[in-house]
Amino acid sequence: LFTADQADLREPTDYLKRYYGYDRFRPMQEDIVRSILRGRDTLVLMPTGGGKSVCFQIPALMMPGICVVVSPLIALMKDQVEALHMNGIPAAFYNSTQSGKEQRAIEDDCVKGKIKLLYVSPEKMLTESFFVFLKRINISLFAIDEAHCISSWGHDFRPEYTQLHVLKEHFPTVPTVALTATADKLTRNDIAQRLGMNDPAVFIASFNRPNLSLKVLPGTNRLPQIIKLLQQKPDTSGIIYCLSRKSTESLAAKLQEKGFKAAFYHAKMDPEDRAKTQEAFLRDDVRIMCATIAFGMGIDKSNVRWVIHYNLPKNIESFYQEIGRAGRDGAEAQTVLFYSFADVATYKDMLSESAPANLGLQLAKLERMQQYADANTCRRQILLSYFSEDLPEPCGNCDVCRDPRVTFDGTILAQKALSAIVRAGERVPMNLLIDILRGSRSQAVLQGGYDQIKTYGAGRDLRFEEWRNYLHQLINVGVIEVAYDQHYALRKGILADQVLFGGRKVDLVRPDDAPKPVVEKVKTK
Ligand code: ADP
Ligand code: ZN
Repeated sequence: LFTADQADLREPTDYLKRYYGYDRFRPMQEDIVRSILRGRDTLVLMPTGGGKSVCFQIPALMMPGICVVVSPLIALMKDQVEALHMNGIPAAFYNSTQSGKEQRAIEDDCVKGKIKLLYVSPEKMLTESFFVFLKRINISLFAIDEAHCISSWGHDFRPEYTQLHVLKEHFPTVPTVALTATADKLTRNDIAQRLGMNDPAVFIASFNRPNLSLKVLPGTNRLPQIIKLLQQKPDTSGIIYCLSRKSTESLAAKLQEKGFKAAFYHAKMDPEDRAKTQEAFLRDDVRIMCATIAFGMGIDKSNVRWVIHYNLPKNIESFYQEIGRAGRDGAEAQTVLFYSFADVATYKDMLSESAPANLGLQLAKLERMQQYADANTCRRQILLSYFSEDLPEPCGNCDVCRDPRVTFDGTILAQKALSAIVRAGERVPMNLLIDILRGSRSQAVLQGGYDQIKTYGAGRDLRFEEWRNYLHQLINVGVIEVAYDQHYALRKGILADQVLFGGRKVDLVRPDDAPKPVVEKVKTK
């Protein structure tokens, strides 16, 4: 059977070479593989394109039984399985589009040990009949792909994922590996907990993509700005992300009018057109893809040279994933984000209309995105600090680094804010903290007894709005952190102790020096 031609393979690298044709692992991949092989529950954070697949596929090949892969991307399962077949790896997927006969054939293959990787959606996974089947086969590993979907703190929560804890209850000895390209600290802990992981080994690959330049532009007159950008990059491929299906179509039409090879892509197109458009982009027949966020998932195109966000993304996780589709080959790539208050207002309307259960969280994540766009400090440092990664020096490859704002030494301000945060027990949200700093006698201040703490009134020389602005800057650089799970209380960020006790300086920009985002003019006639 399958194992027969594996006799000469011993080390993970042998498998990497044989089945994928690669000579060496990327950083962390081998450690992850070995952690899983030891039977340890493992949590993997690696940016899109980082190479998560081999991390569970190679253990699957090396372990005796079957690896069951849970993935929400039903549309991609077929492609993933075909790609595995091309590499000579026996894999199958199992979903509701298949006939009963097809499903039984797959079950048979699994029972006979002919399959190494079985892909399944979470919905299917949790049906009773599938569970009966799972009990009949030899499972060596559960791999949970897109694992951020399990957390209600994540940006893409899928309720059907939350039931996956039953896997650990029914198969306590089978190790679990959870993989995601996008999760803040809170989401990470939540993933491990909700899957019932047992003291998981956590691997966080660096999210730094130094070859991507970062830039924010005011969201007015976007078309001429885009055309200018495109003219600077002739014969290159790129994606323009738009908020609505209609705007992908109208933008593509306008660009075609100007002679650009543009197409549009969104989820409401019929599947055939969608596949064709995607193909054309992969073959470079179409250079410019005006798309909704539906585009790009699972597309492995290495030479995307630029990504433009026509609208503000709704959170940093999405933004980072979308710009991450550029420059996968490691060569220079450009990203541009258009920022307008109108987009923020649109999201807020959409959110309050759909009234999701986690409305507050989504609004807070949107505000975080807005703070990024408003920022006056290195944008890469902001993005990385969002994922708890410290980039010690400004990057030199974002618009703020290229055109630095005038800064002043804001260390004392940062220390005042931090010590008020600490003395208030890391329990107060931003507005209340500002009231405390400014010595307000508001009810909330007095009721909490915050007029008794030492830093009460230590910042009365600044206006409320100034404090707000500085606090946003401090959040951006990781000195302060927003606790989404504690009613948005402010608490110490990754750099807080260095600022309080380690002599680390903080540069701030006076609010008036900062360029203001443009409010789009409302047409009156
Ligand atoms: P992810 O799932 O993290 O987005 P993939 O697993 O799809 O990323 O891998 C991205 C690309 O990197 C794929 O083309 C894959 O074949 C390639 N890749 C993965 N590991 C290696 C490696 N060790 N050496 C070279 N290429 C690799
Ligand atoms: Zn920078």
